[in-house]
Amino acid sequence: MRCLIVGSGLAAIAMAEHLRTHDVAVDLISVKKKGASIVAAGILNPTVLKRYTAAWKSSLFIDYALPFYRTLEDVLQQKLFEPLPIHRVFNTPAEANDWMVAADHPSLAPFLEAKIQASTTSPFFAPNGYGRLLGVGRLNIQMLINGYTRFLGNQYTEAYFDHSKLNLSTAQPKYNGVSYDHLFFCEGYQLKNNPWFGDLPLTGTKGEMLLIRSEQLPKNAIWKGPIFIAPVDAQHFWVGASFNWTQKNDQPTQKDRIWLEKKLNQMVRVPYQIVGHMAGVRPTVIDRRPLLGTHPKHHQLHVFNGLGTRGGLMAPLLAKWLYQFVFEEKSLPQEVSISRFAQLPSS
Ligand SMILES: Cc1cc2nc3c(=O)[nH]c(=O)nc-3n(C[C@H](O)[C@H](O)[C@H](O)COP(=O)(O)OP(=O)(O)OC[C@H]3O[C@@H](n4cnc5c(N)ncnc54)[C@H](O)[C@@H]3O)c2cc1C
Repeated sequence: MRCLIVGSGLAAIAMAEHLRTHDVAVDLISVKKKGASIVAAGILNPTVLKRYTAAWKSSLFIDYALPFYRTLEDVLQQKLFEPLPIHRVFNTPAEANDWMVAADHPSLAPFLEAKIQASTTSPFFAPNGYGRLLGVGRLNIQMLINGYTRFLGNQYTEAYFDHSKLNLSTAQPKYNGVSYDHLFFCEGYQLKNNPWFGDLPLTGTKGEMLLIRSEQLPKNAIWKGPIFIAPVDAQHFWVGASFNWTQKNDQPTQKDRIWLEKKLNQMVRVPYQIVGHMAGVRPTVIDRRPLLGTHPKHHQLHVFNGLGTRGGLMAPLLAKWLYQFVFEEKSLPQEVSISRFAQLPSS
């Protein structure tokens, strides 16, 4: 059995790994310097820190994701996931009270520490204190993508997949002279250009981030105020992100840079230099749920998309669901199946 995966972001890698561990030969084709995964912070956060609620099916996703990435660390012989608490800064004393109430809730209790931390000497402004979110951390997505594509060797091709060159007239689809049993489209927001799945209601939400350098910021936690600040390495920090629902491109803008700097200055009181500024489009869906499934006419073509703002958390378990749907005749949860939307065109 041989499969082709289009993409090299979080969806593609999770899919490739599920296929590979079931003895399926996998080829991957992608333009890997594009997409949402390469600009993402990689924070695996099962909660919604604005409202103190659990994200959709969050404990199911995190319980599967953490061991999945640990296994990938063994495969790639690289440290990919760093357990780090998230420090949620309170804007008001009322927010601190809400935190204590939420920490009692069974779905949040494993993550929200039922304690308010006072912060007087920290390099972060936190006059109302902060709460610690535990059992979370940061996945180094850049390292994962580079490590995994290297691991695939010549099964990885750095190139644009030209949909018009896929030959569907033979029993097995053929691309570049190679026959495949199945193709998995893990194209992120570029799914819009896909002739078979491009009509799915992917809305896309652009996000911009800054990379900063600072010698005085601590590396032992991710901080969350109006934006996230996450340590990347000894001196670099990921800062973001903005949300833009109208622009659908990966060009960083001056407007969002100014906005991010303003939010950053509200959070930190130590010097820093901006050394990077990038943008990507999150593959968000009209109903905020993933898009998994098979084309109604071309049964060898599958879609894995709609990871939205939480690809790191959700991709591993979603890949398992899609694998079981395609190869083990298990049905997909209706919330993630593309069958919840109007029929796809049959051509
Ligand atoms: C600023 C920002 C911050 C984020 N922070 C986080 C975070 O902290 N935690 C988290 O879990 N999520 C975060 N996200 C969301 C996360 O990035 C996405 O959920 C996830 O990366 C989507 O992965 P994907 O593989 O579906 O798509 P992508 O990462 O977009 O990957 C698609 C890949 O397919 C390639 N491709 C598409 N079409 C073709 C083609 N025809 N030929 C060749 N290649 C093709 C693209 O070039 C790209 O490499 C963030 C997103 C943004 C923008």
